[in-house]
Amino acid sequence: MKIKTKLTINFTLLVAGILAVSSISVYLFSLRYRQYDFYLRLRHKALNTATLLLNIKDISPGLLKIIDETTISTLRDVKVWVLDESKNILYSNTDSASTAKILPAFSYMRWTDSNFRTKDDKVYLCIVYNYNKHKYYVLTTAEDYYGMAELKNLRFILIIVFAISMLLTVLAAILNTRQSLQPIKELIRQVDEIKASNLHSRLSIANNKDEIAELAKTFNKMLERLEKAFETERMFVSNASHELRTPITSIKGQIEVTLIKNRSAEEYQKVLQSILDDVNNMSTIINGFLELAEANTEPARIKFEKVRLDELIFSVQDDLLRQGKGYNVYVEFEKFPDEEDSITVKGNPRLLKIMISNIIDNACKFSPNRKVTVKIDYNEQTVDLKFIDEGIGIPKEEIKYIFEPLYRTKNSQGQAGSGIGLSIVNRIALLHQANIDVKSEINKGTIFHISIPRKLSQETTVGETANS
Ligand code: ADP
Repeated sequence: MKIKTKLTINFTLLVAGILAVSSISVYLFSLRYRQYDFYLRLRHKALNTATLLLNIKDISPGLLKIIDETTISTLRDVKVWVLDESKNILYSNTDSASTAKILPAFSYMRWTDSNFRTKDDKVYLCIVYNYNKHKYYVLTTAEDYYGMAELKNLRFILIIVFAISMLLTVLAAILNTRQSLQPIKELIRQVDEIKASNLHSRLSIANNKDEIAELAKTFNKMLERLEKAFETERMFVSNASHELRTPITSIKGQIEVTLIKNRSAEEYQKVLQSILDDVNNMSTIINGFLELAEANTEPARIKFEKVRLDELIFSVQDDLLRQGKGYNVYVEFEKFPDEEDSITVKGNPRLLKIMISNIIDNACKFSPNRKVTVKIDYNEQTVDLKFIDEGIGIPKEEIKYIFEPLYRTKNSQGQAGSGIGLSIVNRIALLHQANIDVKSEINKGTIFHISIPRKLSQETTVGETANS
């Protein structure tokens, strides 16, 4: 069922309920008021008759009957009987003067005190009247014609008012829901027009206070993120192709030039060596892509275990030494761990090694002295690693871009590299809920500070950057 129909039905039912309850209340209150008012008038009539008959000596039952018949009263067809203690009729304003005829109608009454009953639209009243140490019963009965007619009229008015109100309510509900849902309809129309080719379009926000405007704003923010992701993806593909094309062009060029004429074995060897360098370069780039893909897998699919970070760092140090690049990696403890758990984190050892290895490699690569100092520190919540070099530094305005895939700073163009390393680092840090802080000064050096939590909080957020 459409929300429009649902809202209209709900609103109409609600108003119908409120109207029905108030109409029934009005009717019941009027009914009760009329009954009580009728009882009071009947009582007044009974007492009046008893007083005239018993208290005033000169009035005979015949005279009282004449007075009764000629008095203009709001009570129609009222019948009054005055009975003595032995229930003999002393006075009656009707012809049914025999008690045998009238008593069955009053058989349900109490004869001990004044009380009344209602039966078949008629009210029966019995009043115990004490006069001159004698007990008398005044019986009265009448039908509330006027009251009933008024109630019937009220019922009719209430039903008509209810019907008209319901009609107006349905109309108002339809118009109101249509008007309220119009912005949503407009939003759907605008969203429907957004395709991959026009991701730059945004939803127009007419009124910037209501929930629909909030929804449009949130949607616009999502579009912004999507557009950025699409752009990054596009840039990545184009840069990756460019990165791979350079060594391929170089290999192709070298082979073509070599094949022009016969070469000496030495020359072939030199060319092959140069081609091998290019192939190695390509291999590094492709490995980087694979690592990036691995780091991009769903956090749920990655195995997390206890990892001692100092052991990882020493292992990276060993690997780099074996590569014989002339790198110097110094490891220092800010404070020595009392127990191995102090420098243990929950993580994936393979990914953490790739992260540490990339940062150490960068620090040495971008430092003329090929030296990096790794400082290990810890506290209750985190293990902190600082990678300090005395290298070329990173221009301040470029620090925010270095974690983007394939980004390389202007001052690093002379060094070999693909610009993928730090985007892998960023992704791995994110998976481990680690925070990266970079401080750098041109030609003085760079400090990469990574703070890795010892325990992971429940969910690993994906898609946000870990660096600050
Ligand atoms: P690359 O393959 O170029 O090293 P990375 O993604 O690892 O790619 O690094 C991105 C860029 O960040 C590098 O090209 C370099 O400009 C800059 N960078 C990273 N680490 C350092 C560092 N320790 N000193 C100076 N610049 C650095």
